[in-house]
Parts: sequence; structure tokens; C-alpha cells
Amino acid sequence: MFNNIYVGIDDTDSQTGMCTTYITSVILDKLKSCGYNIKGYPRLIRLNPFAKFKTRGNGAVSFKINIKSENDAINIKKIVLNYIEDLSQLQDERTNPGVVFFQGKISAELERYAMKTIRDIVPLKETLALAHKIGADVYKFKNGRGIIGALAAIGCPLPDKTYELLAYRLPENYGKKRMIDYDSVRLMNEKMYPQTFDNLDNGYIAIEPHTPCPILYGIRGESPDMVLEAHNLIKTMEKIERYRVYETNQHTDMHIVKIDKIAHMKKYGCYCVRGIVDDNPHTIEGGHVIFTLKDASGKLECAAYEPTKKFRETTRKLIKGDEIIVYGGIGNKGTLNMEKFCIQNLSTLYREENPICDCGRRMKSAGKNKGFKCLKCGQKLREGTKIRLEVKRDLKKGCYEVPPSARRHLSKPLVRFT
Ligand code: ATP
Repeated sequence: MFNNIYVGIDDTDSQTGMCTTYITSVILDKLKSCGYNIKGYPRLIRLNPFAKFKTRGNGAVSFKINIKSENDAINIKKIVLNYIEDLSQLQDERTNPGVVFFQGKISAELERYAMKTIRDIVPLKETLALAHKIGADVYKFKNGRGIIGALAAIGCPLPDKTYELLAYRLPENYGKKRMIDYDSVRLMNEKMYPQTFDNLDNGYIAIEPHTPCPILYGIRGESPDMVLEAHNLIKTMEKIERYRVYETNQHTDMHIVKIDKIAHMKKYGCYCVRGIVDDNPHTIEGGHVIFTLKDASGKLECAAYEPTKKFRETTRKLIKGDEIIVYGGIGNKGTLNMEKFCIQNLSTLYREENPICDCGRRMKSAGKNKGFKCLKCGQKLREGTKIRLEVKRDLKKGCYEVPPSARRHLSKPLVRFT
């Protein structure tokens, strides 16, 4: 008999409120108070950023509990399902909770399924078939779409991982301005960065969400101790109801598939690919910066969208001929939404100038295809051409990334590449 039970939960919240991690946290406190032993950290697993029905960050949660008897399993299921029923936003038509209980070993097949849920789109019937095959117990509320993420959260391997400490607000504060002391976040960042990262963004607090959810702040870092230490440095002018540390696949680039041909990229996939910049980046309506990347197999439109702010300035400095590796996901129009890029080779930039006359003055154009003339001494150069001068590039080889406010949960910050 197995002495552990895995619990996976997803799709309990809506755009107007609640959060699957919060419901999980309430459940975990209840299970602890009933004497159950939670093994390790609960897991917050981010799934495909392009999944159609996501509310926000496409996160699902799982945890593992030690059980001594089949009665324990029955009791745990009852507690979990009661809380899901009570706290989920069931009135929202887009909220379709799913809960999965599993008392077995995490197989390679289950891990592959989880990776598919992170990198691809999975139909509900595929989840049901796998759950049936491995003997997982599946509970669907309404259409139960949440079981797709719930099973993935149980099966997800974590060869690289980070931690997030989530602090939750008192229910009476939901929807109100978050009362976090800015200076304490700044000081925390000075002490903890990069062991905790994405604390600040261009002088703003980056640890607070901007939705009416129960989360007051989330601190992301490399270890449970680090996120806890950072949490102890934060001062707030409102009470924290509870907090919890999650183990996660956030900021690991688990969504990114490394490929060597642009032609192999598909919509709603996230990739890392090498290519040559095929035109100088230009700004389109809305402030988005666009350019084309090419390799021998094809071409790809790449974008630094408006929310990526200063990243767009760096992108604008690229020129035709630069060789780069880009990371990002392909949206429904087939454009790659860049998360970061690494410059491998910089092309030479030239500027063209009119020739200098023998008298030392720069010549003027004499008209289209008529060469040049000197306004000082009158000399003409009928066959003259412009002179090409090399210009120092205002860009260095290396990697550049979007700011924390525009970073995808799964995207690995450069500070984590060592
Ligand atoms: P939050 O981040 O606030 O928890 P969310 O963005 O995670 O919200 P959910 O409410 O969990 O959004 O809704 C996402 C839905 O999409 C879930 O039902 C989940 O099972 C499903 N889903 C997730 N990934 C995939 C995928 N790769 N293919 C198909 N369905 C998916």
C-alpha cells in the first residue's frame, strides 16, 4: 500500500477574486490542524502561458501528505473537496475546478504529460484517459477543466526550481490598495538580491500583484530560507492573514523548447532559436517594436511589446545582420513575444556622408544622379559617390531581458543564469 497521497488543484479562481494558492493554503492549515503531515513544500506549477482558459498566470497547485490508513485518504479527500466547493468562484462561468488525488509513484509517463501541459495544449479527454490509466481519483466541478492542470501539478518534474513565499491579506482588505512599506522592500532588495529577485522594478514594488486577489505580496527566490528571510524584512501597514512557501517551476524556462530551425516553430509554443536580424527594428502603433529574424529555414516576426518598456529601447538598437538567440512564445498572429535575447555577433553599422572637396569643405548633392558640388569653390564631382563610415555600435554582445513587471512567471531571469 502507498503511504502518501498527492493532491492536485486547479481552476478555482476568477478574474474578480480568489486564488488557487490561497484555497490550498487554507486547506493545508486545516489538514495540519487535523494532525496530518504535509511532506515537503506545496508546489505552484505554472503551465502553458498560451492556454486559452487561463485566468492570469496559469498556475496549478499540488501537495503530498503522509497517510497511515485508507481512512486517512477518505478523510483528506472530504476536507479538500469541501473547501474547494466553499471557496471556489463557482458562480463564474469560466471557473471549472478540478481536483486530482493520486496514491502512486510519479511515472515517466505522468512527467511527460506535465511537460506537455507546460509546452503544449492538452485536451480534457487526454487527462481523463491518463488519470484512469494510473488509477488517479478525479473530481470535476462544473466542466472540471481544472483537472488538466491539477494532474500536471502532481506530475511535474522539477530539475530546476525556485521558491515563492505568498503572504495573504485579511478578507476585508481584498480589492483595496495594498499597504506595503516601500522602504522596507528597498532595504530587503539591497540585502537579499539576487537570492530573492524581481523585488523591485525601476523603483517600483514588484512583489505586489495588481489584481483583487487575496495575495498581499509574493517573494521569489532561490531557497525557502531566503524567501523567509526577505519576508521578515518587509513591513506592511495591513495585517497578514497567513503566508506560505511554495516550491515552483517559476523562472526556470521550463516552457522553452530549444530548436534549431525557425520553420519548426508552432503557434502557442515557446522557443529559443538562433537567427539573423533581417531588417532594422521599427516601432508600430501602440509602441510595440518589431523586426524580422531569419535563418536558412524561414523567417519569424519578433516583438518587444509596449509593456516591456525599456527592453524596447535595446531592441531598437539591433540592426540588419546582427546574429542573436531569442527566447519567447508565439502568439495567435504568429509573432514571437520576446522574453529575452542574447547577441552572438554584432553586424557593422555604417553611416554615409557626402565626399569632402579638395578645398576642405563637405560637398553638397548636385541633384539626383548628378554627383556633388562644392558650394565654396564650385568644384563638381559628377561620378562621385557617398563615403561609408563605420559607426560605433551603441550595443554590446550579451543578453538582454524584459523588466520584472513584464516577465512571464516561467521566464528565467538573466541573474539566474550562472
Ligand atoms: P491563477 O493564476 O490566478 O491561478 P490561472 O491563470 O491559473 O489562474 P485557471 O483558473 O487555473 O487560470 O485556468 C486555467 C485552465 O486551463 C485550467 O482549467 C487548466 O486545467 C487549463 N489548462 C492549463 N494548462 C493547459 C494546457 N496546456 N492545455 C489545456 N488546458 C490547460
